[in-house]
Amino acid sequence: QWHRVSDFVQSVTNATEAILNDKHTLIVNIPVEARLYGSYKELYSVFSNLIVNAIKYSPDGGDITIKWESSEFNGVFSVKDSGLGIDPRYIPRLTERFFRVDKGRGSKTGGTGLGLAIVKHVLLHHDAKLQIRSEPGQGSTFSCHFPASRTRTDNIPAITSHSETPSNVQE
Ligand code: ATP
Ligand code: MG
Repeated sequence: QWHRVSDFVQSVTNATEAILNDKHTLIVNIPVEARLYGSYKELYSVFSNLIVNAIKYSPDGGDITIKWESSEFNGVFSVKDSGLGIDPRYIPRLTERFFRVDKGRGSKTGGTGLGLAIVKHVLLHHDAKLQIRSEPGQGSTFSCHFPASRTRTDNIPAITSHSETPSNVQE
């Protein structure tokens, strides 16, 4: 089934309003016509986990940028935060079940460590890949790379005034 990428983000951001603090700024840049093929429930869990993580792991606020970029080769959904960042040596382990970088950060950032394991699993089922880039103390970017076959952009045709040549006119 085809879904609008912006619909996922809309419902995730509605659901996460409660955990945003007033220092966070959400910047959403998703073309309305961008569409993605797959299971709504599963893809929702991917985008929700990434967005919730970006909020949870940037306790001091900052910009969170949610983007969709597509080309003839792929469609890329990304979430960039300016939060805690991740030590490079832990990056390969983030998608392991129950892996958490710092288990003692307090209840506000509590979790089970399953979010990214689910993300990886769902993306695998959608022929997609997760890329993680991070700069400790600066922030992180999580991006999902979908193959072009699962993405679509419906361009709204330009409205052109259309006048037919009257049939009684001789050329
Ligand atoms: P939950 O199961 O509730 O999602 P979780 O958030 O701890 O729990 P994951 O989403 O799998 O689990 O993330 C695993 C770990 O990766 C986190 O505990 C955190 O240490 C680190 N992490 C994930 N996203 C970010 C991020 N945006 N910035 C910094 N660290 C992150
Ligand atoms: Mg999580």
